[in-house]
Amino acid sequence: MNPEEVLEAIRQEVIACTACRLHQARTNAVPGEGPAEAEVMFIGEGPGFHEDRQGRPFVGAAGQFLEELLGHAGLRREQVYITNVVKCRPPGNRDPGEDEVATCTDLYLWRQIEAINPRVIVTLGRFSMGLFFPKARISQIHGQPKVVNGRLVVPMYHPAAALHQPALRRVVEEDFARLPGWIEQARTLTPDQAEPPDEPQQLSLF
Ligand code: URA
Repeated sequence: MNPEEVLEAIRQEVIACTACRLHQARTNAVPGEGPAEAEVMFIGEGPGFHEDRQGRPFVGAAGQFLEELLGHAGLRREQVYITNVVKCRPPGNRDPGEDEVATCTDLYLWRQIEAINPRVIVTLGRFSMGLFFPKARISQIHGQPKVVNGRLVVPMYHPAAALHQPALRRVVEEDFARLPGWIEQARTLTPDQAEPPDEPQQLSLF
């Protein structure tokens, strides 16, 4: 199967998924969207009210702001792959549980990453960050890319956090404005640097 076919197979599985309790309250599961050959992948937390209604990621207020931020980075939504840690809306927008995160990422997210093979992964918010940097605090590592398993992972604040805390807005905008430079640098990763490291490593060139 080519990457597009793999993504379509995953989509079919996600929309029929009953692997955890989150499926019980959902209207629609939200697999993710974007080109299979996207260079940059954005991983949010989980669908909210509007995403659950439409079956598409980041279509509410946070999504509008994300599109604006993509503009700061010279990117269009159609160029990037956008998905979430969990594919079904946690009831009342509660935090996803550890078991729900483990089930959903094992079943879907790691396979999506493998199929798309993006050069850059941007994590949006602490749940997504926690998949790559389990002990980190977002206030300390946002906007500091690291090479993880051969790709550049950039932790960013969640756009919704910036909508709720106006002081974060400039921070998020500044982090996004640096994204084009990081994408450019990720294109120069050598095969050596692309070897899966045991621990996330800091790239000295950043
Ligand atoms: N917040 C997220 O984390 N993901 C979405 O898809 C929408 C809002």
